[in-house]
Order: sequence, then C-alpha cells, then structure tokens
Amino acid sequence: MKKKLIAGNWKMNGSLVANESLLQSLLAGIGQPACQVAVCVPAVYLAQCQALLKGGVIELGAQDISSHEGGAFTGEISPAMLKEFGLRYAIVGHSERRQYHGETDELVAAKAQSALASGITPIVCVGETLAEREAGKTEEVVKRQLAAVISTNGHCISEVVVAYEPVWAIGTGLSATAEQAQQVHAVLRAQLKAATPNADRIKLLYGGSMNAANAASLLAQPDIDGGLIGGAALKPKDFLAIIAAAA
Ligand code: PEP
Repeated sequence: MKKKLIAGNWKMNGSLVANESLLQSLLAGIGQPACQVAVCVPAVYLAQCQALLKGGVIELGAQDISSHEGGAFTGEISPAMLKEFGLRYAIVGHSERRQYHGETDELVAAKAQSALASGITPIVCVGETLAEREAGKTEEVVKRQLAAVISTNGHCISEVVVAYEPVWAIGTGLSATAEQAQQVHAVLRAQLKAATPNADRIKLLYGGSMNAANAASLLAQPDIDGGLIGGAALKPKDFLAIIAAAA
C-alpha cells in the first residue's frame, strides 16, 4: 500500500534555538511513523536541520529550488547545492511564491524539472484563489497549473508529488472540507492518469489549514495521500497528531 506523506512547510519561520527545540520534540515523540515525514525548512537552516535529523525518519526538504544549474543568478540556490544537505524534497510553486514573486506556471514546471534532474522530489503546489473558486474556475485553474508541469516533465511526471492547496485555505484556519478536497484531487488524479500509466503511485497531498482536528477526515479520502502542513507544522503536538492520523 502507498504510504502517506506528511510534509511540514515552515515558511519564513524559525531560529537556531527554535528549530532545535522543535526538531528535538518531534524526534522524541515520533517513534516509527506509519507514514513518510518531512520538514521543508528555510535554506539557511538546512545544515543545522540535517545535523539534528541525522538521516533518520524525518526527511529534509527545501521551500524552493532554482531552475538554473549555477552561475550568475544572485540569491538563487541550485539543486546541486541543496543536494549537498541530503535533501529529499523541494516545494515548488507554492502560492506565496506565485503571488509575491511572480512565479508563472512555466517557471514552476522548470523548477520541477530542475529538481527531478538532481534526484530531488518536487512537491508541486497547485490551487485556486477564492475569486477563482467563486467564479467556478477551480478545475480550470488547477488543471492549467498541472498541465504545465506534465508537458515539461514528460514521463518523469510519475516522480513528482502534487499538493492541492486552495489559496483561500492557506493560513486562514478555513480548511477545504474533505469532500471539496477529494473532488479536486479526483480531477488531478484523472489528469495524471491521462499522462502516465503510473498515476496511482503519485502522491497527491492536501494543504490549507490542515490540523490535528481535521486531518483524519481529509486523509481518509481515497485520493488524498498526505498533507502539506504550514502553521501546525511549527507546533510539535499538532504535527505529531497529524502524523498519527496518517497511519
Ligand atoms: C502551506 O503554507 O503550505 C500551508 C498549507 O499552510 P497552513 O497549513 O498554515 O494553511
């Protein structure tokens, strides 16, 4: 059976002291989880987190990755650089990067390709804004965002993780209902099925105000293979409860 994946997105939070305390609490409470677990941390803390996690049950991820291999790209971090820290995942196309950093569908697809070429699994985020949902455009938007990644990555698409993150649910406390999330996940699964015979093994995560109280019902949906967790990933008790719900 496909193991679920629970990935924390720390966003621009943390400090040397806070990270150590958070990771020590997680390591003390996690035992042998029934699902895969990862934390996607700010790049400046990758070395610290790699040392604390010691290649154990919690894997490491980045929150972004350059589409370039190296050279004159001030501020960018290349896949090879990230790989040096034992990285397993890189989030690409988070709505905050699309919204505040002008990332286009094409750039997100190129970042996914760059990650895959280095053996890093991209967690590709797609999701509609509230205005788009209210205009009945949810399917159209998420399909367009995913189509760019499919067309750039060809048969490698079976190696990506996709996270459906409705923008209106991120950081708002207003999660999609399990039914709303499953409906969109089914659309994404069908789109992936049309692109690869291996679509069933692609992990489709839900993200957007997932917490200890709503995780179990979201994770029980047939096409929800895990969660991308923001706020609750910074609270050890809550993150551990979500991991337990993914058993
Ligand atoms: C996220 O930032 O990817 C996210 C899902 O945030 P939150 O869980 O806080 O809504």
